[in-house]
Amino acid sequence: MQITVLAGGVGGARFVRGLLSHLATREAPEPTTVTVIGNTGDDITLVGLRVCPDLDTLLYTLGGGVDEDQGWGRAGESTRVADELGTLGVGPDWFTLGDLDLATHLARSRWLAQGLTLSEVTDRLAQRWGLPERGVRLLPATDTPIETHVVVDDDAGGERAIHFQEWWVRHGASLPARRFSVAGLGGATAAPHVLDAVRGADLVLLPPSNPVVSIGIILGVPGIREAVRGTRAPVVGVSPLLGGRPVRGHADACLAPLGVEVSAAGVAGIYADFLDGWLVDDADADARYPAGVRVRSLDLLMRDGAGAARLAGAALDLGQELAGTPVPAGRDRR
Ligand code: GDP
Ligand code: CA
Repeated sequence: MQITVLAGGVGGARFVRGLLSHLATREAPEPTTVTVIGNTGDDITLVGLRVCPDLDTLLYTLGGGVDEDQGWGRAGESTRVADELGTLGVGPDWFTLGDLDLATHLARSRWLAQGLTLSEVTDRLAQRWGLPERGVRLLPATDTPIETHVVVDDDAGGERAIHFQEWWVRHGASLPARRFSVAGLGGATAAPHVLDAVRGADLVLLPPSNPVVSIGIILGVPGIREAVRGTRAPVVGVSPLLGGRPVRGHADACLAPLGVEVSAAGVAGIYADFLDGWLVDDADADARYPAGVRVRSLDLLMRDGAGAARLAGAALDLGQELAGTPVPAGRDRR
């Protein structure tokens, strides 16, 4: 079985880890490959190094090296290099670059400078973290450098664009966003194997990742949304909002500029052109969802590894149920 997942950082990585542990406990498991297509809109160049926060969160989480409490960064991390950079007056002081994490960014930047693509670099890092042995293939959505920017008010009554990370990390998404714009996205092409992984999948999963700045960016790479819409596989998503609130992060601040209701139903609406199945929290069971989407409610919180596995299992079950049913009229799957 080929499962393809479109993932952001922490929510996506925890879900995929749950998926792997769920698959490992299945009786008579069929050989399964999980292809994870990671968001690269969060990528940023800091102190001359290329940092890919969502890909790194996926690598560290799936590779067993993540700081569990934070959900990102390396376990057992120190910040001696960043402290010294601060003493030298070299920023940024608002973005944590741990010592072990810096080795990732140094290696990535070196390999990119040598002419490797981001896919090739990510492949090397995935080998370092043992992802192939775990049945996981990690692909960046695109090898084209893209960067999500947030357009906010400036002091003179006009507007200015800041990097997504600055908005999210430095300002805690507290500056009202007028809109998001993604530098490079229009001219970007899907990375090798990405479109095939969607078209050839038996199941496409959307984990509880940010629908605007994680999954929305992946879908915005030319060709990817069309591939998701056209795949024969059922597309099953998990709501990142429970009772109208994100579990962590600021998905609400991302939905506001789009004029989308901050709810599980609002997020389903963004995906309505391709979504077949939607897992929502019990608190959201009675809302109205787009026609043709099969909705199941359960406890949607990933409290621990077992909770993430349970959630992933529910997504697989819904996918299997949908695979046995005809495509709803009016939806062009294929
Ligand atoms: P980021 O790149 O680190 O921001 O991570 P993602 O885009 O992958 O995921 C962030 C989203 O995951 C947020 O909207 C959270 O509400 C959601 N999330 C985090 N933990 C959980 C959980 O346990 N259950 C559900 N349903 N959503 C969660
Ligand atoms: Ca992210």
